[in-house]
Parts: sequence; C-alpha cells; structure tokens
Amino acid sequence: RAAASPQYLHGLNPEQREAVETLDGPVLVLAGAGTGKTRVLTTRIAHILSQSRARPHEILSVTFTNKAAREMKLRLGQMLGQAVEGMPWLGTFHSIGGRILRIHAELVQLKSNFTVLDVDDQVRLLKQLLQAENIDDKRWPARMLAGLIDSWKNRGLSPSQVPSGEAASFGNGKGGKIYATYQERLKILNAADFGDLLLENIRLFRENPDVLRQYQNRFKFILVDEYQDTNVAQYLWLRLLSQAPSQPGLPLSAVIPGPIDDAAAKQAASAQPALAAPSAPLKNICCVGDDDQSIYGWRGAEVDNILRFDHDFPGAKVIRLERNYRSTGHILAAASHLIAHNEGRLGKTLRTEDVDGEKVTVTGSWDSEEEARAIGEELEELQRAGENLNDVAILVRASFQMREFEDRFVTLGLPYRVIGGPRFYERAEIRDALAYLRTINSPADDLAFERIVNVPKRGLGDATVQLLHDHARKRRIPLFEAARAVVDTDELKPKARGSLRDLVMQFDRWRAQREVVSHTELAEIVLDESGYTEMWQKDRSADAAGRLDNLKELVRSMEEFENLQGFLEHISLVMDRDGEAGDEAVSLMTLHSAKGLEFDNVFLPGWEEGLFPSQRTLDEQGRAGLEEERRLAHVGLTRARRRAKIYFATNRRIHGTWSTTIPSRFLDELPAHNVEITESKGGSGWGGSGGYGASRFDNLESFGSSYSTPGWQRAQANRGRGGGGRSGGGFEERQSSFSGSRSDGSSGGFNRS
Ligand code: ATP
Ligand code: MG
Repeated sequence: RAAASPQYLHGLNPEQREAVETLDGPVLVLAGAGTGKTRVLTTRIAHILSQSRARPHEILSVTFTNKAAREMKLRLGQMLGQAVEGMPWLGTFHSIGGRILRIHAELVQLKSNFTVLDVDDQVRLLKQLLQAENIDDKRWPARMLAGLIDSWKNRGLSPSQVPSGEAASFGNGKGGKIYATYQERLKILNAADFGDLLLENIRLFRENPDVLRQYQNRFKFILVDEYQDTNVAQYLWLRLLSQAPSQPGLPLSAVIPGPIDDAAAKQAASAQPALAAPSAPLKNICCVGDDDQSIYGWRGAEVDNILRFDHDFPGAKVIRLERNYRSTGHILAAASHLIAHNEGRLGKTLRTEDVDGEKVTVTGSWDSEEEARAIGEELEELQRAGENLNDVAILVRASFQMREFEDRFVTLGLPYRVIGGPRFYERAEIRDALAYLRTINSPADDLAFERIVNVPKRGLGDATVQLLHDHARKRRIPLFEAARAVVDTDELKPKARGSLRDLVMQFDRWRAQREVVSHTELAEIVLDESGYTEMWQKDRSADAAGRLDNLKELVRSMEEFENLQGFLEHISLVMDRDGEAGDEAVSLMTLHSAKGLEFDNVFLPGWEEGLFPSQRTLDEQGRAGLEEERRLAHVGLTRARRRAKIYFATNRRIHGTWSTTIPSRFLDELPAHNVEITESKGGSGWGGSGGYGASRFDNLESFGSSYSTPGWQRAQANRGRGGGGRSGGGFEERQSSFSGSRSDGSSGGFNRS
C-alpha cells in the first residue's frame, strides 16, 4: 500500500498520516512546535482534492497571516504537481469574512464595493460623533473609543450586546450609544472597519439563515491553523460555518453561543447543547494548534477555544504529534525545559530524532549597540561560511529594538527585510517625528511640513492645505513661508488662522532653540510641545505603547550623531535603500510575527527583565502575563532549525532612561546542559576575565525551577560608559530573587555625563 500511496503522503509518520486521512468528522491536532501541524493541513487539502472528496471551492482553510496563506498555496501547488482547477478559500479570518461580506453586502446594508476604513479614518469618524454628542475629546479621546470598539468586535459584540457596564465606561455613559451610531454611519458611508469584516459577516449569517446554510453546504471541509490564537469573534464565525447543514431541528439560538469572554457568558456557552445532535452528520472540521504557542491573549485570543474543542465538536478525534522535525536536540530540549515552567498548560512530549547539534548560545553584551554589533559580526561570519541569509532571522520582543539592527545592517551593507511591519524609519510615528525635525532643519521641505501640519489634529484640514498650496505656487515660495504669509491675511477662518499662526511661531521658536540645546533635547521638546507624544499617550489602541517606545528609540538613536543635520543625512541614506531587499536577506521581525515560521539560524536579542518578559505585560496581567511571555520565548526558540542564539545587554535605554538590566529570568530557566555561554563578538572584550565563562555552568544542575535559584547579575551597578573601561568585570552570580521587588535590581539609573 505504501508504494501505491500518492507522493504527498510519503514520509509522514503514522499520526500525521492519520490526521491527513481522517476526513470525516471533527479532528483536532494538538501538538507542539515543529511537529508538522501546518504540513498536515496542507497535505490534507491535497488529499481531499486528489481523493475527489471536494472541489477546491468547497474547501475553507484559515491561516493566521496572509503570508501563511500564500505559503500554503505554494506548497499545495508543489504537492499536487499540476495546477488544480480553482483554489480553495484560503486566507485569514478577516480576508475570508470580507470576501463573503462583499458577495452579500446588501443584506447588511452595504454595497459590494464598500471601502475598508483604516484606523485614521475610523478615528476621524468617531471624532465627529463625539463632537456631535458634546463629549470632550480631550477627556475621552476618539482613539480610545476606537480601541474599545475594536475589542468589542474581537469579542463578537454588536452594539446591543455590549454589557451595559462596559458601554457606560466611556464618554459619560455614552460609549455604547456612540458605538451604535458609528455602525449606522459606516453604513451611510458604505464602509466597514477591519473588525466588521468578521462581525458583520457573523451578523449576516445570524440574520439570514438561508445564506448561512448556503455556506455550510458549500464548505465540505474546514481547516484552521493556529487554532490556539482564535478570538471569540473568529470562534463564533467558525461555529456557525461548521454547523452541519442538514440539521433542520436546532433553533439558531441554540447553535450560537453567547460571547464567552465574560465569566458568566462563558459559563452559559459551556452549558450550550453540543453543536450537532449526536445523530446529525458532523462537520469535517480540522483544527490544529498548540496551547504552548498561544501568544495573542492581549488581543483577545482565547486559548480556551482549543481546550473546549471536545465539547464543541463531540466525537472529535484528537491527534497528538510528538516528533519534532524542525529543531536539533539541544534547541528542542532548551525550549521544552523553558516552557515546562508554565503552570497553565496541557503538557506534551516532544522528541526529535535529529542530532543534538549545537547548543543554544547565550551571550552578554555591554549595551544594545554592542549587541547589534555582535550580531552583525556573526551574520557576516555566517555569510562567509556560505549560509543563505534567507535562513537567518532576528526576532525581537518589541519593535523599537529593530532600529539598532537596521542601522547596523545599513552600515554593514547587509541586506535585510522586516517582516510583518514596516522598517523602523518607515513607521508612521517615526515619519511624523522626522517630518517635524525636517521642517525645522529645512523650512523649504514642503513634503515634511504638509505631513505634520495637521498631525496631531489642529483644525488645519484639507481646505487650509489647499489654500497654502495655492499661495505657495503663486508666489513660488515654500509651503511654510506661505503659511507665514497667510496668517496675516483674512483668507482663513479665525480659528484655523489662529491655529496656523501658533504652529508657525512654534517652528520659529524651535529653530531658535536649535542653537542652544542639543539636537536630542530639541527632539524631545518638539515631540512634547507639538502635542505629538500626547496624541499617542491618549491612544488606547493595542500598538500605541509600542509607538511611544519607538519615538523614544528615535530620540535615542539621535545621540549617535553630532547634530540634527548629520542625523537627518543618515536617515535619508537609510531610507534611500531599496524598499525591497534582494533575493537573499536577513529577516527581522517581532516574536509575534514569527509564529509558524522556521529558520536555520535564529538570533534572539534583548533577553532582559523588563524587556523580555515585558514589564508592561507583567504589570497589566501578572502571572498570566508572565506565562504568555514565556510562551513567546518558547515560540522564539522553536523557530530555529540548527542554531538558536540568545543575547542580553547589561545596559539598555528603555522608556527613555538608561538602566542597568538584569538578564531575563527565562535564561535561568534554560537547562544548563543544552546551553553554552559565549563571548560577545562585539569587540569590547567583555567577559574574558570576569569569570563569565562556560565553567560557570558546571556548578549549576539546572537553571532555575524557581526564581530563587541563582540568577545572573551584573557585578557593578553603575559603570561609566566610556569606551576603554569595558573589559574586566563580568557577571557575578548572586542570590537574586526576581520575585521580590524588581526595581531595586534594575534601577541603577545609568547616568551619562
Ligand atoms: P509550528 O507549531 O511552529 O507552527 P508546525 O507543527 O506547524 O510548527 P510544520 O511547520 O508543519 O510544523 O513543520 C515543521 C518542519 O518539519 C517543516 O519544515 C516540515 O516540512 C517538517 N516536517 C513535518 N513533518 C515532516 C515529516 N513527516 N518528515 C519530514 N519533515 C517533516
Ligand atoms: Mg505551523
């Protein structure tokens, strides 16, 4: 039989094969990283098609990112040899939801050519609604409401379903009402926001059982990757679609559980009758996931969804895969040992039949700059050794960390690409900040001035900008000078005129200050006085905090240059690089975007307390947050096939101040046997004589089963950051208790003088 089986099944282990070949009824593949879950899904589609169990358009396959969907299409093409007629419905929840929504747009009061609003449009619209309600935008920022609405939508809550307490929590009790008006306005504008792509699709199905039935009939097979990270809305949508179509008896209300985000609602959902009556045909749904890789709790993902699978799909076949095909022995052991420190997990075994390979390395650097230099050198070494840069990734915890690497790579001429987001200097907040600085530096920089003339909003809308353009063109002067001229006329309404005059005066003042304060101070003053920082401080969307960090990192990066002019020249060089890296490039991304991917060489910088685990997550979510951070570390390590290299710096400027950092507790949780301490190649001679050598580990049975095990701690708290005095010293072992007050360990405010 094996010889006769199709090519695509070759090489699968028995459990994988079972997951591929069990086409009837619900299947859950619950398995660790690198065990072939995604491969099983792709092979399963190939199998369904080659067995003629369904035509391509009768298959629905949901991936977490668009990139993953593209990859799956590619693999599928390879597996099937020749092109299949048509393609399965393959994409993210939102892309598929949007596609269905367009087909039936009129049923949810939209037209099929509806626009999808971005966050800025969304905020602008909300702002109008707040004004109409006489709600003070300063006290109740529109961005905050946008964030709230987004979180409601993630939880599958339409305006009428938002718990009244929550609805009243915003805008003097008017939050819920504005959410409702907002939805109405979207319809008038023939628009949907991102969350609507799914939520309105759910409403469409709920209000039109015939349409729902049509899709239930169509999708003979449903496949879902990364099931552990589905949120409530995604879960509801899946449940609707996966309900067996030929079931006339059940009232719709019985198959639609309420939102399960709130404790009470959750209970109610569990008490729901199982989806299909035992006698009814079960839907062919196959979900794969790993509870140890659930990393989107902060965005409303419900790891419970995977734990409830059995309940939702009675009779589900649960398949576990235990062989990891991705990583070498040491890497897998290190990752498994680390994640074992989490309490809330199902627990699973993972084994590899691969060689032990190289140990996971841990390298300490003086500061983040040295860390970037060290990694840069390692990359060059890998390149010289003939490694393909496409097989190299640098995974950071926070996007601001990318800046240092990008600068370094540009200096070295190393090609790189940023995955899952823009490059550092291309981020909207960085471009905005740079636009302010460019306008100061060069009043003739029209593009820069136009970018920020109304950011943050100061009542200088399109009409004003148009007027400035007219003036500038007529008199052949830069926009900024046109602004100066226009405020002396009565062409603008008094309010806009006042606002523009203020702005012109501010720029004049900043240009004068430039002569007396350092360029970094100037940047801080500008971001502060312009209201730009404040705009993001008021923003409650999930990425606002990250943007503030990026702004601080921008100011920090300026320190490396003598003056504003030099800094801006550097930026133009960096920006000038071709947007798309060539064929071969190092990948730079956050740990969150690395989900599902794999690379031969993985660099993991910034393993320090406060950064990773992130202090913000610990503060906001406590123990649960710590466990999510640990899963993130586990995801990072398990991306590596052959080499995993961890770094930490002992000084880092975080949230604007230098501090001496403590190596991450996660380092203490790595098994000593699988880890090797190496010296930084950053060139500072760090650690050579200080006893921070491999021998240090000989005394340690294992790193930390609790936080009271010996941690790593820098010997001296405050040392000058001068170039010469870096060697010596090293890391001193000490009884450190990370569970105690952390601040005393990391507060050694680093004073640069
Ligand atoms: P993650 O949890 O990180 O998403 P995963 O479980 O989805 O991982 P895959 O990405 O599907 O794992 O597979 C990991 C690697 O192992 C891939 O390179 C895949 O091609 C390979 N692999 C999977 N199964 C086998 C097998 N039976 N024989 C050889 N290689 C395999
Ligand atoms: Mg996968």
